[in-house]
Amino acid sequence: SIVYLDGKWLPSDEAKVSVFDRGFLFGDGVYEVVMVYNRQPFRLEQHLTRLFRSLDQTGIPNPLGMHEWRFIIERLIDQNEGDQQSIYIQVTRGVTAQRSHTYPTGLVPTVFASSQSISLQKKDTRRNPPCSAITLEDLRWARGDIKSTSLLGSVLLKKMVAESGKDEGILYRDGIVTEGTASNVFIVEKQQIITPCVSDFLLTGITRDFIFELAARYQMVLLEEDISLSRLQEADEIWMSSSTAEIRAITELDGLPVGTGKIGPVWTRMAKLYQKHKSELFSTCA
Ligand code: PLP
Repeated sequence: SIVYLDGKWLPSDEAKVSVFDRGFLFGDGVYEVVMVYNRQPFRLEQHLTRLFRSLDQTGIPNPLGMHEWRFIIERLIDQNEGDQQSIYIQVTRGVTAQRSHTYPTGLVPTVFASSQSISLQKKDTRRNPPCSAITLEDLRWARGDIKSTSLLGSVLLKKMVAESGKDEGILYRDGIVTEGTASNVFIVEKQQIITPCVSDFLLTGITRDFIFELAARYQMVLLEEDISLSRLQEADEIWMSSSTAEIRAITELDGLPVGTGKIGPVWTRMAKLYQKHKSELFSTCA
């Protein structure tokens, strides 16, 4: 595939970054993942806005303007195959002369963007739950609101999930649910949808925001509240959301059925609305 690296378009195996790049040495960078449906980026503006926020929060200067970012993403989609793609964008603080935690001013950020085509089959399994989850103590840092490339915490947690033989991990801090290892969490209680409040401990998902919009449009109750572990266990439904997985229904939690143990009606409705409106949106954008 063709990737973008610091102003150049290159075959992926020719794209090279210095070993003194702070992204490599410290995980000192931020990223985004944007889905492409029917060759149109989905919610690109929201993803770029969040990227700009992550840059701002980490003090990495935004190397490009909104138009330049859009141009790069559009060109990346054009140069790569597949109606459905997943775009990865990464900005690191840049390359220094030597390894030091403290960074000098005036570094030039390293900008990388690539695309991966998503096969229809993979897409169908994504939309074809049910999934199982385990609860895990959230051992990541306390700034989950920044989409940082320092993902060792998530990597270790994902390994625990894989070793448990289950599909997903639902994380908690002091007994309160934060999010998934790479997704947001929702529960349903008597037809009401609940998701954890926005905080420094979790990433405000673009998919989460989209679910809020759909709920408002279809008069479905969606509240932001703390979800304790016992509340999670007693929920009628549990969902997880992310750009790549869209909305997943979790029907088994820590080896026990969630609600009836089958996919719930509120998830079914929301998942249908998601599919409907995601295609509507790109037809109106075109
Ligand atoms: N939370 C974390 C930690 C994530 O890594 C992600 C996405 O990868 C999300 C939430 C969901 O965000 P989005 O819906 O914008 O993909």
